[in-house]
Amino acid sequence: MAEYRRDPVVDRWVIIAPDRAGRPCEFVELESVERAGVCPFCAGNEHLTTREIDAVREPGTAPGGPGWRTRAIGNKYPFLDALPMLGEPRPSGRNPSSLFASLPAVGPHEVLVEAPFHATRASQLSLEQTTDVLRLYRSRLRALRAEGRWRYVQIFRNVGEAAGASIEHLHSQLAALDVVPEAIAAELRGAGEYRTRHGRCVFCDLIAAELAAEVRLCEATPEFIVACPYASRFSYETAIWPRRHEAGFDALDDEELTKLAGVLRRTLGRIERLAARTSYNVLLHTAPFDAADDAYHWHLEILPRTAKAAGFEWGTGVFINAVAPEAAATRLRAIGTNE
Ligand SMILES: [Zn+2]
Ligand SMILES: [Zn+2]
Repeated sequence: MAEYRRDPVVDRWVIIAPDRAGRPCEFVELESVERAGVCPFCAGNEHLTTREIDAVREPGTAPGGPGWRTRAIGNKYPFLDALPMLGEPRPSGRNPSSLFASLPAVGPHEVLVEAPFHATRASQLSLEQTTDVLRLYRSRLRALRAEGRWRYVQIFRNVGEAAGASIEHLHSQLAALDVVPEAIAAELRGAGEYRTRHGRCVFCDLIAAELAAEVRLCEATPEFIVACPYASRFSYETAIWPRRHEAGFDALDDEELTKLAGVLRRTLGRIERLAARTSYNVLLHTAPFDAADDAYHWHLEILPRTAKAAGFEWGTGVFINAVAPEAAATRLRAIGTNE
């Protein structure tokens, strides 16, 4: 039986249509992506990349050479223009209230290389390596917050061609924005309205409700819960929510980072074992730097590319999901982890 479901935070409907699960190609397979003879992201090939911006390094090693565990570099093909030189006035928008509002799109667009060796799947990273990746996320967010000029930073990871990856060596990307994008604005609005109505955080309530319901849980630790969201757009869509209310990801301490790395690694390991070559995106949603209050609650979203958005989705914004989140959670729980 098909069912409409509304997301608990944002005004977004999906159709859960399990009868379509029998259709062929439940997964968009990870196809071979660009694999030139030399991988620019492997250690030893630093000269093939742009300048190193930040890194988690072995003591005594110098920026720009080997010895790093994770490193942030500029994207060679950025979708944002280079920053104006220091001291140049910040570009301002033209006619911000007109029908044709615009703003120069400038800012850092970085690649966060997740391992010095040629890893292509998250499950190939050790707990320590995964922790280093999250440490680099935190370090970049803190540095960009300190710059005081960005409104929002999106960190995302594309794994597999169907998820948008053009280089197979495992990497995340980061873009610092002068605008708060609609996906975040909608969550902020939803959280704000819920707080006005109930006096509580919608994400905190959601976590408590998922723990009580149990049916959509993949894993619960004292610090985090992993669940298939009630109104999942994609089959096996998964979210990781921290139990402790915190608006910004960069407030995590070292111990929390390690705990999160364990949860993330187990979750991605399960998703990668669902099908031999699953493509997926990992999105970090954290509060805008200029958020007026702490109503937001940071989280990670994992979107397996189980189906392509087609005419209906583009026309309506309503995704059709062939695997009920409850069934997805049951299957994910049944998949063992490496540990
Ligand atoms: Zn490589
Ligand atoms: Zn909360």
